[in-house]
Amino acid sequence: MKVLIAGAGIGGLVAAGRLADLGLDVEVIEKSTSIETMRYDWHDDVAPKIFRRVGIEIPKEHWKKGSWTFCTTGEAVVREFQQDETDPDLSIERIPLNQTLANYATSKGAKICFNAKVQAPIVKDGRVCGLVIDGKEEEADFVLDSAGAYSPIRSNLPEEFKIAKLPGEDEVFEVYRAFVRKNDGFEDAVLQNKVYMKHLNKPGISWAIPDVSDATCMNVLVGKVCGLSDEDLKEGLEDLRKFNPVLSEEVVRGGYKVRIPVRYPLTRMVADGYAVIGDAAFMTIPMLGSGIASSMLSATLLAETIGESMTAGIKDASMFDAKNLWRYQVKVYQEFGYQHLAVDIMKRWMLTCDFLDWLFGSKILSNSDLVSAASGQAIKLTAKFALQKMGVIKPKDLGKVLKMMPMLLRSNKAGNIGKRIPKKYVPRAIECWEKKVFKIIEKSNG
Ligand SMILES: Cc1cc2nc3c(=O)[nH]c(=O)nc-3n(C[C@H](O)[C@H](O)[C@H](O)COP(=O)(O)OP(=O)(O)OC[C@H]3O[C@@H](n4cnc5c(N)ncnc54)[C@H](O)[C@@H]3O)c2cc1C
Repeated sequence: MKVLIAGAGIGGLVAAGRLADLGLDVEVIEKSTSIETMRYDWHDDVAPKIFRRVGIEIPKEHWKKGSWTFCTTGEAVVREFQQDETDPDLSIERIPLNQTLANYATSKGAKICFNAKVQAPIVKDGRVCGLVIDGKEEEADFVLDSAGAYSPIRSNLPEEFKIAKLPGEDEVFEVYRAFVRKNDGFEDAVLQNKVYMKHLNKPGISWAIPDVSDATCMNVLVGKVCGLSDEDLKEGLEDLRKFNPVLSEEVVRGGYKVRIPVRYPLTRMVADGYAVIGDAAFMTIPMLGSGIASSMLSATLLAETIGESMTAGIKDASMFDAKNLWRYQVKVYQEFGYQHLAVDIMKRWMLTCDFLDWLFGSKILSNSDLVSAASGQAIKLTAKFALQKMGVIKPKDLGKVLKMMPMLLRSNKAGNIGKRIPKKYVPRAIECWEKKVFKIIEKSNG
């Protein structure tokens, strides 16, 4: 049975290996000309446990990541949040990671076709049955969409599939990322890995981090939701340099703007003959935009679902019917999607919050609260949590707490809604669940 995968990114390559291993005829279509020119030429942070989960070796080009230091505008508050030292995040070079995943996919029998651009899906009688690639039609029993946040497949699906076509403007983080040379004569900050929350009081984050791979460089990011203008970027970089004089203007790697989805995962990830994974399904952690682990995990969950259908004796293309693929979406929401939904509510609130100095400076948020949110897990609002926090609240801060509590309650509720995704593919139950998700997001925007 023929499977076409759009995009040889992180998720597409893991899925290609897993699906080929099931005996399917898998071809990956990638618009870049080679592994070396695919995506970014830098390194990114990933929790190592995902490699254990998917059974793939971590490329040797990796370094241990240090703990984050959260700063508010003007460094009014600078606070270190210790990461779990027993299993710290790793910063992994992208090109060796892509190469490792491509080797994995091809070793299982998948083919990768470079320099080929997917333009649209082919849909007949309500079923996705192929792709238009460089103007030519290619048929398939199953199309897997792994072509990133602006996938031309997802955005060209018929309305009746009810799959969101594009992320909202406020659900995309536009970032400038560069590795710049360090100026001579300046020491690194004592507290490193500085992330500026709501940098310059704009809805976004920036960072300045000593490069773990090259002691002569700093890793810099300036990002904002709803678009990063050249003026925003200039002001962001100037402010980073003011507080981090070690930053020079010499760009060594990167130095351009890219867009990352920062929202809850799609509420519809499957249709007959079609499924979507990774960034194309908006699976990045809404707080920081990390999505490598969820792309790898979603690829694995999808392949496990198809494998289960095969084991249950389904041998024809009906294994790719929406009703069978739906179990994949249930797994996504129950493993991590519900957490991302809850974190998205927190992120929307934080981007408009006008008392971040107090939030980060007081003891209301513990080390583990913020580390949780940054790693894609919600802050659990339990009676024990409320009692612990009561002890650190001063009477004058009660107003702020009263503004924060409804958001935490909504975030917890959103997580519960996410977890209670209908287990079976019953269109009316799915519609009802989806309405609840939309409603709680709408309330968070208000
Ligand atoms: C600046 C920046 C920093 C980041 N830092 C981190 C981090 O530290 N940790 C982390 O976990 N995540 C990070 N991310 C997010 C991470 O890059 C993504 O979440 C992850 O790569 C998503 O994997 P994917 O397979 O869904 O998509 P991608 O890896 O983006 O792959 C999509 C592939 O589809 C191809 N493609 C797109 N359109 C077409 C088409 N029409 N035809 C054919 N091919 C097509 C693309 O060329 C690409 O190869 C960062 C992202 C950015 C931009």
